[in-house]
Amino acid sequence: MSQKFYIETLGCQMNVLDSELACSALLQSGRLQTDVSTDADVILFNTCSVRQHAEDKVYSAIGRLKGWKNEKPNGILGILGCMAQKDQKLIFQRAPHVDFVLGPGRLDFLVETIEQLLGTQPRPVKTADVSLRRTTNGHAEVLESFRQYNPDRMIPETQKTDSVLVRITFGCDQFCSYCVVPFVRGPEQSRSPHDIVNEVQHLVDQGVTKITFIGQTVNSYQYQQTRLADLLYQVADISGIEQIDFVTNYPLDIDDYLLQAVRDLHQVSKHLHVPAQSGSDNILKRMNRHYTAAQYREMTDRIYATIPGATMTSDFIVGFCGETDADFEQTVELVKYCRFRNSFIFKYSERTGTKAAELYADDVPEHEKKYRNNRLLEVQIEISRQQTGER
Ligand code: SAM
Ligand code: SF4
Repeated sequence: MSQKFYIETLGCQMNVLDSELACSALLQSGRLQTDVSTDADVILFNTCSVRQHAEDKVYSAIGRLKGWKNEKPNGILGILGCMAQKDQKLIFQRAPHVDFVLGPGRLDFLVETIEQLLGTQPRPVKTADVSLRRTTNGHAEVLESFRQYNPDRMIPETQKTDSVLVRITFGCDQFCSYCVVPFVRGPEQSRSPHDIVNEVQHLVDQGVTKITFIGQTVNSYQYQQTRLADLLYQVADISGIEQIDFVTNYPLDIDDYLLQAVRDLHQVSKHLHVPAQSGSDNILKRMNRHYTAAQYREMTDRIYATIPGATMTSDFIVGFCGETDADFEQTVELVKYCRFRNSFIFKYSERTGTKAAELYADDVPEHEKKYRNNRLLEVQIEISRQQTGER
């Protein structure tokens, strides 16, 4: 009888795509997917470590699987994704019933790892296959250890869809001071346009009409001379493609060449997600975001002026280290000025290993973070409501 696997995904679109690719690889290896975790022979958690809350959720979900492991001692429990890379063997200390951890840069070893574990009795020692630490190894070795994961994508008959995610960049080199992503996802790498176009064609052949290009700073895509705008032109040429989106944009890399491509290609959505994070120059500097609020406003003006009918969304972090009432009010002003269709607002969560954790005290009290979160949300909801009324 075929083995069954169950996979639970937490976090962002990167993880949604990684899980989809992992499922595709496991299905092609002859295993069956189940929606009922306790029926599975292999349970996988694809995890997120951007905020503490996401990690806490994973540890409590893993804890609840102790009973399953007691009943099915041959069952395999694997932790994938950013938390696997960040916590590595610490996961075995906190949850001894976990069999293996696999970082996001090692996912192409997933099937092999499971097969090794299933085929060996008694079980070998627990395996932690993760990429090298960026801070303590040379660039070339680190890059080599964060492997691109692009298995053949077969959309199962039962999961037919017309809309898919396609990764065009891996990793991130921005090192925003609060963020763990550059450490757990590794150096920024752009995929070759040839591979991307082939993958899109392969997906179109399976009935896909809408694609979303994803990358941590998707608009900094560059492969030799090819930039994101060039890629949009190439993919828009594929017969059958009706809609192209791309997330997430880095403000300083929104250039006129890209905006003109968005304006001129009817397949490309006239919507841009460009996280601002804060409206205060002091805080942006501490966040290591490399732009000022005035530059962000100027970019917004350019987007609205170049692309008729354009809409925008943004991300904000409230309660970052040292954020005063006056800093926060500048964020409120920025939201009002930019008239986002929506904003995703997060309370700052200190992450071990980041510059912010090293340099600054997490000194905004929790109740104040909550207040600022709610206040900014109210401002945004009112702007969103007015826009819905205008349409
Ligand atoms: N690369 C994208 C970018 O630059 O916007 C998104 C990366 S991150 C997964 C998504 C959002 O999480 C960020 O835009 C930021 O607002 C938020 N975030 C990242 N680190 C955080 C932290 N330590 N505490 C709270 N929110 C955080
Ligand atoms: Fe994190 Fe900044 Fe990179 Fe986004 S751009 S993933 S927030 S370091």
